[in-house]
Amino acid sequence: MLSKPTRRTALRGAAAAAVVVGFDPAGRAWAVEGDGGPFDEVPPLDGTLLTDDASRAAAADDYGHIVHRTPAAVLRPGSVDDIVAMVRYCRRHGIDVAPRGQGHTTFGQAQVKNGLVIETTPLAGIGPVRDGRVTVGAGVRWSTLAKATLEHGLTPPVFTDYLELSVGGTLSVGGIGGQTHAHGAQVDTVTELEVVTGAGEYVRCSPDRRRDLFDAVRAGLGQCAIVVGATLQLVTAPETVRHFLLPYDDLHTFLADQRRLVEERRFAYVEGQVAADDTGAFRTYVLEATAYGPPAGPEPDDELLLRGLRHDPAGATAETLDYYAFIDRLGPVVEQLKEAGLWDDAHPWLNLLLPGDEAERLAGGILAGLTPADVGPAGVVLLYPLQREELRTPLLKMPRDRVPYLLAVLRTCPPEDTATVDRLLAANRDAYETVRDRGGKQYPVGSVPFGRDDWHDHFGRAWPFLAAARRRYDPDGILVPGQGIF
Ligand SMILES: Cc1cc2nc3c(=O)[nH]c(=O)nc-3n(C[C@H](O)[C@H](O)[C@H](O)COP(=O)(O)OP(=O)(O)OC[C@H]3O[C@@H](n4cnc5c(N)ncnc54)[C@H](O)[C@@H]3O)c2cc1C
Repeated sequence: MLSKPTRRTALRGAAAAAVVVGFDPAGRAWAVEGDGGPFDEVPPLDGTLLTDDASRAAAADDYGHIVHRTPAAVLRPGSVDDIVAMVRYCRRHGIDVAPRGQGHTTFGQAQVKNGLVIETTPLAGIGPVRDGRVTVGAGVRWSTLAKATLEHGLTPPVFTDYLELSVGGTLSVGGIGGQTHAHGAQVDTVTELEVVTGAGEYVRCSPDRRRDLFDAVRAGLGQCAIVVGATLQLVTAPETVRHFLLPYDDLHTFLADQRRLVEERRFAYVEGQVAADDTGAFRTYVLEATAYGPPAGPEPDDELLLRGLRHDPAGATAETLDYYAFIDRLGPVVEQLKEAGLWDDAHPWLNLLLPGDEAERLAGGILAGLTPADVGPAGVVLLYPLQREELRTPLLKMPRDRVPYLLAVLRTCPPEDTATVDRLLAANRDAYETVRDRGGKQYPVGSVPFGRDDWHDHFGRAWPFLAAARRRYDPDGILVPGQGIF
């Protein structure tokens, strides 16, 4: 999904940085122009290999601002061929490689100490919308994609709450949102992937072609291949939506009404938030539900949509929104956070998947122990149901329950307050263990200290499949060490 520049550019870092010419296997260091001694020349590239401090420092950070691992170099590819060439080169020298989309995971997942970070942002192509599908480069952000498909009256069926994430990045983790109960995760809406494996092979895979690779890459946390392009299903987009916020004052009723709504598929979108009340206790619940209008659904009828729900009608709100304004409603909030200087806080996030039949007990326990200081001034707590029957991607691990719930404690705190960060990481681990012991999982985009045994346990019956795919497609084990899986 990247057009080739006509002229091959040199391997240049920022203006002041030296030009990288090779890798010295004996000294295990990149060689720059003027270095004597033997080194293996870097292949010619269409793009740029950056070794300047600023580029490497940027790749040693992420949205969490907790973990920092500095790579030796950053590839800004000018073509997919560059990725193939550099993965082969790195494989030959045992150099670890990690693709990086928007760097919005929170615990070093896209970082690689002394290795090569491959930026996917230049993979920015969006192909024609045809037969209800679109093929895009892995670096495209969901906001850009949505705007492009909406020109055809179509939309990806599932969005994450925040649209400025890369397609490759969310397909590597899953991609869950308020439409997931009806359409699965974003990984369930992919029909074909273009990837570069850890062996340096460019491969197309789909349900009918190299199925094992297709299944190993979707929600595969980058362990077998780098996604360079994806073909995604689209659905009819509504022009406007009817958006409801429905307050509840007890967890049991809130969860039961959410479950009812997703089982009945009454709304196109269902999520929910939990906030602290005046005493600081997390027991204010708001169910968020959205119905799509024509041409994606019937004209919304408030009375029908809300029939039988047990929220507090006094605090309920309903508004009609333009579809894009609805899916991007976090965008303006993020701008405010940036202005207030809160976007750069540390984010020791906790994302858990609870078995539905234990959701009240588990969520209740975690929420009871939560204080406003544990969540932070810009933090949010999300709690909403999914439907297992729609979640068909083998490596997106879910509790064995028809209606699992996502509980996300999206914590924020000052990055320099390392004592608080450590305390919250420990709290994440405790919460994870409690949930795991009752059949729950973590959704691995957050900051839960996790060892190899945990990963084995996490993937469960899918572990032999993932391990075999890793041996086959990344035989030297160079891809994405930041996940800590192998
Ligand atoms: C504000 C905010 C809101 C969010 N909301 C949601 C939400 O509603 N639902 C949800 O599901 N998630 C949500 N997330 C989490 C998000 O989906 C993941 O963190 C996702 O990985 C971010 O995409 P990215 O492009 O930043 O990926 P990165 O952080 O750059 O990468 C994530 C991981 O995938 C690997 N990777 C990146 N690109 C590729 C590729 N092309 N091929 C193979 N591996 C790759 C990286 O090496 C890394 O291990 C949110 C995150 C933030 C910061």
